[in-house]
Amino acid sequence: MAPNGRYAPSPSGPLHLGNLRTALLAWLFARSAGARFLVRVEDLDRGRSRPEHEAGQLADLAAIGLDWDGEVVRQSERSALYDAAIARLDTYPCFCTRAEIREAASAPHGAVGLYPGTCRELTTAQRAQREAEGRRPALRLRAPAGLRAGFVDRVLGPFDGPVDDLVVRRNDGIAAYNLAVVVDDHDQGIGEVVRGADLIDATPGQLHLCDVLGFERPAHAHVPLVLAPDGARLAKRHGAVTLADRAAAGESAAAVRAGLLASVGLPRDLAAACATFDPSALPSESTVLTPEAIR
Ligand code: GLU
Repeated sequence: MAPNGRYAPSPSGPLHLGNLRTALLAWLFARSAGARFLVRVEDLDRGRSRPEHEAGQLADLAAIGLDWDGEVVRQSERSALYDAAIARLDTYPCFCTRAEIREAASAPHGAVGLYPGTCRELTTAQRAQREAEGRRPALRLRAPAGLRAGFVDRVLGPFDGPVDDLVVRRNDGIAAYNLAVVVDDHDQGIGEVVRGADLIDATPGQLHLCDVLGFERPAHAHVPLVLAPDGARLAKRHGAVTLADRAAAGESAAAVRAGLLASVGLPRDLAAACATFDPSALPSESTVLTPEAIR
């Protein structure tokens, strides 16, 4: 049997049309290949995750006709697995705030968005001093300087990007997203990661983490986003962006699903889309949510 596929939503609000389309595509990638399809709730961000959002998201996935295998897994219940992985890594404590990282990275030689290495070589005394100031460190994975990781995305083609010292444990003690995703995908036997194109920049670091942990790299397919008419990420203020919004306007979940499938050139019927699914024919461009775009 083909390795498993998955959809891994963060329960911080209702799923919008872009999330629903990603879920549909993740399901199609898996089911059209005869693979199992798993749902994993990524609820490590305790401040933003809510059980009612999880329940609403699962209900919406079911409403658009998606089914999944086994129990839904929650990251908040898997910290032992993450701790065991972190214990195997060469890490160092990092006391930097976001603002400090931004400042150092915008210095003339800093690479934008990458960790500038401030805490890499702190002495024991310097660490003690920061701790005495009441700063709580995150843990970063020590990566070789200048490392890059590349892969061939099943939708977007060849992609290559820099790998910096990833945070593997946040400074509130919780496993970081990048670490948890890599550990879970391995533990759950995920052969192909299907997710939104906005996450592609995280992939080189995650591949490096796979390598360091001795995990086989999964394949990747980063699928196009649905953007608001102004080009921004979809949000509540953009109007009819959730199944509930569409239902209030008299549109059924099945009709929304048909529109989502058609918006990436697939048959409007889910079974037909599955029977003829060809990942290489998916568009790579985002869909802009005009009134006609998803109908
Ligand atoms: N939980 C992430 C999100 O909702 C997705 C992570 C992933 O698919 O790797 O954006």
